[in-house]
Amino acid sequence: MDLFKSMDNLNTVEEKVNEIKGDAEKVKCLIIGSGPAGYTAAIYAARANLKPILYEGLQPGGQLTTTTEVDNYPGYPEGVTGPVMMEDFKKQAERFGTDCRWGIATSVDFSAKPHKVIIDNNKLIEADSVIIATGATAKYLGLESEEKFKGSGVSACATCDGFFYKGLDVAVVGGGDTACEEASYLAGICNKVYLIVRKDYLRASKAMQERVMKTENIEVLFETNTKEIFGGQTVEGVKLIKRKGEADEHEETIKVSGYFVAIGHKPNSEIFADYLELDEIGYINTIPGTSKTKVEGVFACGDVQDSVYRQAITAAGSGCKAALDAERYLGENGLL
Ligand code: NDP
Repeated sequence: MDLFKSMDNLNTVEEKVNEIKGDAEKVKCLIIGSGPAGYTAAIYAARANLKPILYEGLQPGGQLTTTTEVDNYPGYPEGVTGPVMMEDFKKQAERFGTDCRWGIATSVDFSAKPHKVIIDNNKLIEADSVIIATGATAKYLGLESEEKFKGSGVSACATCDGFFYKGLDVAVVGGGDTACEEASYLAGICNKVYLIVRKDYLRASKAMQERVMKTENIEVLFETNTKEIFGGQTVEGVKLIKRKGEADEHEETIKVSGYFVAIGHKPNSEIFADYLELDEIGYINTIPGTSKTKVEGVFACGDVQDSVYRQAITAAGSGCKAALDAERYLGENGLL
């Protein structure tokens, strides 16, 4: 699901802004998004007395709330779960006075200062600086049957939904770190996990590949694509197309109760597309080495602008940069 809805067109935003202008709330620093990038930006902005307001979006805590163990974040020698880590980030941001709120940014107008952001289609915020930390959202294959079974057998989050498939057979599609991690997690709950991989190799890190290969109840199906997911009220199985080289292509069926999609992510940047520069996939372009976008006073950090590293630690680091950039901008423009 997209965290931030796109706007229909500019007129709609302008009309909306005019409609609710009387009730505008004025802020120095508005942070949109609540993953490691957003909360870190909030910690720094709050300590710099920018009195940040942070809107959490549809998935408070961001993507990490859908992971299990995080073992690679410095400062947690025994590891930590994603949700606990994000609670810690939030508490730290609030400790310095960040105002964390429920709400989704539904449209923006960055054509004039102060910048305007509409929350939940009914609240106008006028911000001297805006830090975008809206992250990225899981991609789906785009099959009709996948759409039909979303929420009743098809999921993009094993940690959220794996529990419902305890003792059953499930499938995971994808060959990256996410797919391997989800397959490993599900293997601890389910009877059997099929990992459906379209190439003849896994793209995941060596450590993750080894973990998958060593897990007895994971079967990796290489050179395999999903034709369709079938069932009645819920998922009952998957029709697969298997290839062996160029010549040999045939269909197979596996019986599963759950189908987990883990094929990458899409940056949540749609509502900014009319004002900011995006790359061909939709990541926000920032001036290299900074969090600055092409609009003065608007900064971007975390997965919405990082197609390369996409780690909690790099997102947090870029959130810090965004807050420092915002503070400097406000200072240089007499807005502190
Ligand atoms: P990736 O982009 O790395 O991998 C996506 C996978 O899905 C690829 O194997 C790709 O296949 C496959 N895929 C894409 N589209 C389709 C399709 N239509 N049908 C079938 N398969 C498809 O995404 P991830 O989410 O796995 O990882 C993103 C980043 O996050 C990576 O940098 C990763 O290292 C990192 N990460 C790190 C973790 C950790 O350190 N604990 C955990 C999770 C992620 P193909 O290879 O053929 O392109």
